[in-house]
Amino acid sequence: MADDTSKNANEPSVSKDFIRQKVDADLASGKYDGVVTRFPPEPNGYLHIGHTKAIALSFGLAKEYGGVTHLRFDDTNPLTEDTSYVESIEEDIRWLGYDWGDRLHYTSDYFEQLYDWAVKLIEKGVAYVCHLSDEEIREYRGTVKEAGVDSPYRDRSVEENLADFAKMRDGGYKDGEVTLRAKIDMSNANMKMRDPLMYRVRHAHHHNTGDKWCIYPMYDWAHGQSDAIEGITHSLCTLEFENNNELYRWFLEQLEVPTPPEQTEFARLGMTYTVMSKRKLLELVEKGLVGGWDDPRLPTISGLRRRGYTPTAIKTLIERTGIAKANSTVDMGMLEWAIREDLNYIAPRKMAVLHPLKVTITNYPEGQSEELEAINNPERAEDGTRMVPFSGELYLEREDFMEDPPRKFFRLAPGREVRLRYAFFITCNEAVKDDNGEVIELKCTYDPATRGGDAPDGRKVKATLHWVSANHAVDMEVRNYDRLFNVENPLEAQYKDDWLQTLNPDSLEVLTGVKGEPSLAEMKAGDNCQFERKGYFCMDQDSKPGAPVFNRTVTLRDSWAKIQKKGGKK
Ligand code: ATP
Ligand code: MG
Repeated sequence: MADDTSKNANEPSVSKDFIRQKVDADLASGKYDGVVTRFPPEPNGYLHIGHTKAIALSFGLAKEYGGVTHLRFDDTNPLTEDTSYVESIEEDIRWLGYDWGDRLHYTSDYFEQLYDWAVKLIEKGVAYVCHLSDEEIREYRGTVKEAGVDSPYRDRSVEENLADFAKMRDGGYKDGEVTLRAKIDMSNANMKMRDPLMYRVRHAHHHNTGDKWCIYPMYDWAHGQSDAIEGITHSLCTLEFENNNELYRWFLEQLEVPTPPEQTEFARLGMTYTVMSKRKLLELVEKGLVGGWDDPRLPTISGLRRRGYTPTAIKTLIERTGIAKANSTVDMGMLEWAIREDLNYIAPRKMAVLHPLKVTITNYPEGQSEELEAINNPERAEDGTRMVPFSGELYLEREDFMEDPPRKFFRLAPGREVRLRYAFFITCNEAVKDDNGEVIELKCTYDPATRGGDAPDGRKVKATLHWVSANHAVDMEVRNYDRLFNVENPLEAQYKDDWLQTLNPDSLEVLTGVKGEPSLAEMKAGDNCQFERKGYFCMDQDSKPGAPVFNRTVTLRDSWAKIQKKGGKK
């Protein structure tokens, strides 16, 4: 073992999850003399937040024990895989902050070795070429209650099998005509052990090996052997592979691998109000129900990134859920909590008016303007201040004015005085209406003596509002997102036939003509900020110079109370 093991590896076992306890035991007994893990995505879609759990576990564990992690593309199915997926997966893992160094591998790099090993198993008499069709194989396999039936091709000679397998490789068979199977036990209680398939014929172009192969290894044959080739010690995967564990061990035993890797299963991460299966995500993308794999409503890493989620928030959520043996679903609210925690600390504050209402300050010198100092982040004094322009024409949030306010409404109303954040006290004197009686403008006066602070005579106001100077404002588009689905689990049995009916038709609200303070035009795509009183937002890649587009990451909870308390009362 390297001696740079972190403190985690030296903590007492009681505080550790069952996988870390197993690693401790394996190292103590000398079964392995280090830790090598892998993350094995199939390049048939984008990574989602569930994958982060597997990534954080495999990369995190290796790091804690001074080991390394391989990134291996499990590319054994040429029909569904694509290099664009390879690129997005690499980008996402890097963005999350994990590094595989030069340990980037493809299962397809091992096709030759896997072929040779298959020949070895045929020679040992534990693998055979089977001419049953897919359907017949299924029938012969039996059920959980009934033993299966041996294939009529099961007992052919080693020579016949070797010749037939070579013919498979050489393109002598059509798709689906033959398979190579392991010869194990057709009455085994574990269905996976009933002569599982090792190879099938697929005359298909492969993103990495081109047209070199027309036979492709099955997951079970490829996975453990690839782990062995790479010297993986702890092969961690999700619970659905529990039944494959026996087969994983069987292959390695047959091949007499000296220090075989071991597979350990852990619970998947599920989340409410979303789906977390690449197949379902692909359906949403292909049917145009979302804007693409990086749609900010999707639980994909690229969608979350575009939405404004940070690696810190995602990792906090993963840590909170822990490593267990029982599948669980976390509440989407927990992820929202995690991102609020992070952004509260790091996001610069800005002022933006989402639903603008024009305000004229009638006693402000015409054509004049001035700059007022605003705090960038009350959580971090070191982030300093910025200057925000003020003038006689402003925008306020439409909902911050009521002509006939109920008792508990403390914001602007005729005859009432409020504070404009970082600026002045203003008093509303008149609401100008259009022909339909809708308020289209407010006429107010300001008190120059309240500049950036309190009134010298000590009079109080009950509300502080955000605002933007009309002539200096940046015109923006804001995309407000809500949950993609209306129900906690769209894949629950009761919706299963028609899970798309549970989509939330109001999951995207586009606001145009949003007015922002000038500094918003200087932000870059991907930058986070808080629009005071409105939520956390992230600049979208669709932004054009001078015409920013912002995605709402998450709303603020109880934002106003917080700002008052934190001494932002200016
Ligand atoms: P999906 O089931 O979402 O389509 P997958 O399991 O087919 O995904 P792979 O590319 O095979 O996707 O996954 C790579 C690794 O990520 C596997 O080891 C798998 O166990 C793990 N993984 C996938 N989904 C989750 C999840 N929701 N929680 C934890 N780990 C996951
Ligand atoms: Mg899979």
